[in-house]
Amino acid sequence: MNHEQSRELYDRALSVMPGGVNSSVRAVRPYPFFVQKGDGGHVVDADGNRYIDYVMGYGPLLLGHDMPESVQSAVQQRAAEGPMYGAPTEVEVELAEFVARHVPSVEMTRFVNSGTEATVSAVRLARGYTGRDKIVVMQSGYHGAQESTLVEGEGDHTSPSSPGIPESFAEHTLTIPFNDREAAHDVFAEHGDDIAAVLTEPILGNYGIVHPVEGFHETLEQLCDDHGSLLVFDEVITGFRVGGLQCAQGKFDIDPDITTFGKIVGGGFPVGAIGGKSELIEQFTPAGSVFQSGTFSGHPVTMAAGLETLRYAAENDVYSHVNGLAERLRSGLQDILEDRAPEYTVVGTDSMFKVIFTREAPDSFEGHCEAGCTQRTDCPRYDHCPKNGHDVKRAETERWERLFWPAMKERGVFLTANQFESQFVCDAHTDEDIEETLEAYKAAL
Ligand code: PLP
Repeated sequence: MNHEQSRELYDRALSVMPGGVNSSVRAVRPYPFFVQKGDGGHVVDADGNRYIDYVMGYGPLLLGHDMPESVQSAVQQRAAEGPMYGAPTEVEVELAEFVARHVPSVEMTRFVNSGTEATVSAVRLARGYTGRDKIVVMQSGYHGAQESTLVEGEGDHTSPSSPGIPESFAEHTLTIPFNDREAAHDVFAEHGDDIAAVLTEPILGNYGIVHPVEGFHETLEQLCDDHGSLLVFDEVITGFRVGGLQCAQGKFDIDPDITTFGKIVGGGFPVGAIGGKSELIEQFTPAGSVFQSGTFSGHPVTMAAGLETLRYAAENDVYSHVNGLAERLRSGLQDILEDRAPEYTVVGTDSMFKVIFTREAPDSFEGHCEAGCTQRTDCPRYDHCPKNGHDVKRAETERWERLFWPAMKERGVFLTANQFESQFVCDAHTDEDIEETLEAYKAAL
C-alpha cells in the first residue's frame, strides 16, 4: 500500500496541531492514515487505499458512512435553512420525545455537544441535587476528558491522571473495580452519606470490552437507593447500540437515575445528552438552579441526523443485522484463535467486538456473566473473560501495535489504534466484509 499522501499530510499536521491530531487516540505510529471519504462500511484514505472500517468514528456511525436517504435529506435541509438559530426548534422536541419513548428510565433530556459535556453536567446535576460532593467511578472506566473522572488510584487514595487537574478534584472521586460488589459495599459503608453519585459504563467499552456480572449493577442500584445517592449510567457508547433502542439499561433491566448519551444519538454529528426522570433533569437551569447552557446545544443539524438515524433503526432490521454480523465475526475469530493463538480472547456483545491478548483466568471474580454472547455462563471460554479493568490491563502488549494495527491495516482492515477500545460493526457491513476480515485476521495471526 502506498501512504505517501498520508505521510505528507501528517508532516504538515505535526507543525500546526499537537501530535498532528485533534483527539489523542487518532495518533498511531509511525503515522495515521488520513481519510479522504467514507463509503458504506469502508473508508478510503488520502492515497486511495480502501479499508473495511470497524472504528466507525469510535462509535457514532451505527448505519455506516452512507447516510440513508431520509437522514441525508433531513441534514441537507437543516443545513440549507441556516444551520442554527439560538432559539429552540421542533426537531429537538421530537428527538427528546423519541428518547423518552424508547429508553426506559428517561422522561426528559438536555442535549449538549459531546459525551464529555454530558458527563460533566451529569456530575454537576448529581452534586447539585444531593448537596454532596463525592462521586464513585470504576477503575478503568472512561467518562470523557473531564476533571472529576480523570483519576487514578484505589478507593479514596486517588490522584489526577493528567497534569493540569488540581488534586482537590480527585479528593472528591472514589474508585472501585468494575464488577466488585464487595468494594461497592465497602465504599458506601465508609462514605455513603457523602456520595452524590455512582458513575459507571454499563459495559466497560474503553478499557474492555468488560461485561457486568450478574448482580453488579443491581448492587449499585440498591446501594444508591439506600444512601440517597444517584446511579448514573454512562451510555455514551452503549446507548442505542447495546440492547437496541432500549439501550443497555433495557437489556440489563436496570433503572438508573441519570443516563448520559453521546455518539449514536447525534447520527454522526457532535452530540451529548443527559436524560432521566423529570424531577432530576428539571434541576437544570432555567427550570432549576444547576447551571447548564451551550451555544450549540440541540443543534438542528445534529438533532435531525440523530432523529432520522434512530427512526431508520426503529423501522428497519438494523440491530438484528449488525448484531448477527458481529456474532459471526466473534465466533469466527474465536475459531481462528483456538487454532492459531489460543492464548488470546475475543470479547464483545451486540455489535461490539475486540481481540485481547490474554487468556489468563481472572483472579478477581465469582459469579455469572450477563453478556448473552461469547461470554455466556455456559460458554467454555467463560473463565477466560476479563471481569474488570485490571484483567484487561494484564493483556497490554506491544503486539497490538506490531501485529494488529499495521498487519490488519495492510490487509485493508481499519481497527482502533488503542488496543482496548471497542470496535463496531455497522449496518452497511456485509457478509463479504466479515469473511474478508476473518481471512485478514487469519493471515495476520
Ligand atoms: N463516556 C464514554 C463511556 C465514552 O466512551 C466517551 C468517549 O468515547 C465519553 C464519555 C466522552 O465522549 P466524547 O468523546 O464525545 O466527549
